[in-house]
Amino acid sequence: KGTLMATTASRSQQIIEQAQRYIPGGVSSANRLVEPNLVFTRAQGAYIFDAEGKRYIDYHAAFGPPLLGHCHPEVQQRAAEAMASIDVIGVGSSELEAQLAQKICEHVPSAEKVLFCNSGSEATYAALRLARAVTGRQKIIKFQGCYHGWHDAVLMNVISPADKVGQRDPLSAGMLPQAIENTLVLPFNDLDSVRQVLEEQGSEISAIILELIPHNIGTVLPHLEFVQGLRDLSSRYNVVLIFDEVVTGFRHGLGGYQAVLGVTPDLTTMAKSIANGFPLAALAGRADLLDHCKPGGDVFFAGTFNAHPASVAASLAVIDILERPESYATLFDLGKRMRDGLRAIIQRYGINATVAGFGSVFLLYFMESPIEKYEDLLRNDVEKFVAYRRALIKRGIYELPVNLKRNHISLSHTVADIDESLEAADAVLQELGS
Ligand code: PMP
Repeated sequence: KGTLMATTASRSQQIIEQAQRYIPGGVSSANRLVEPNLVFTRAQGAYIFDAEGKRYIDYHAAFGPPLLGHCHPEVQQRAAEAMASIDVIGVGSSELEAQLAQKICEHVPSAEKVLFCNSGSEATYAALRLARAVTGRQKIIKFQGCYHGWHDAVLMNVISPADKVGQRDPLSAGMLPQAIENTLVLPFNDLDSVRQVLEEQGSEISAIILELIPHNIGTVLPHLEFVQGLRDLSSRYNVVLIFDEVVTGFRHGLGGYQAVLGVTPDLTTMAKSIANGFPLAALAGRADLLDHCKPGGDVFFAGTFNAHPASVAASLAVIDILERPESYATLFDLGKRMRDGLRAIIQRYGINATVAGFGSVFLLYFMESPIEKYEDLLRNDVEKFVAYRRALIKRGIYELPVNLKRNHISLSHTVADIDESLEAADAVLQELGS
């Protein structure tokens, strides 16, 4: 038994050492290295398993994709069937892609036409290039706390330190100064500041891009008047309004969160949940805008793997499941059970915390409400936030132990999973105290 323990215990270590030798930092995405001693080798339904075989209830969910649960059998089967027929699209239209585009146009209010690519960053890049092309203007407005991907125009001001809020805060070396200078960063939910910028330099602004719910800082709910105001101002100043629904698309409804709010942008970007783990992103919107991107049009849009058959088939399977009337009801009930349960616990122990979330998303901030913009979240007790999550991980509940990260529930989570997680939260919060 001793030998067996020794071999299994060394598996994570071996993987980590090999990865670190050949991959910078051992990971291919900057956000991944948070628990260097955990390597996950299997994911199934609501669970992930580390290299030693220990099971965790997964709420990190790889930043959101597995909305139906990991390795969902129906999704995997449809993807495999598609791949057995045609493995990659080399030329011309493809059948499943046309079907998926139609489905998205039927469900998403702003979608008259759709283009497919592989990641959220590609979709927001294309949306902003298109906005610049059709307006002939260069500047964009984004909001503090929103993340839109790794490219130069948007990689700034997400989780900024207090002294960088209100200034541009680029997150990488090597970004083009021109790209940084052409991005104006404003506080979320603050329509007056947007109005003021547009009054002064409206004729230079090509696009306003936002996460309708800034989930990259947890969950900050938008005021309806803010989003409606952005819609009105964008129309008045001929600015392209872009809703980045990379997280909220499909997760909060097949029509995205724009359908919940009843406000329609000019362009919408989606990714993550739309193919339940397969790499797929979509740029949807007004036909007169998207038509600039057709072959021979003035805006270039391309990608060898765009609309990959496996991902497209996976997305069609996801839509079939989400169209079943019970799907969102189940997902939202689980989310509510989790949030209500957490609220009861923090009340019981008198903990200075706020439960936030929407639908299947939840998290606990260690601070008082109200939370209306990123700046409010500077009051979050980061040490407690991370300590809480590290203690949960020890108890087999995986929430990413990084400041302000949201949690996701999937359709594979059960009431029993939620209740087991609440029991762990109860024990940890009692220990942590107020
Ligand atoms: N937009 C939002 C709202 C996101 O959350 C993300 C990813 N976290 C992106 C864009 C970028 O997507 P990707 O990582 O697929 O490039």
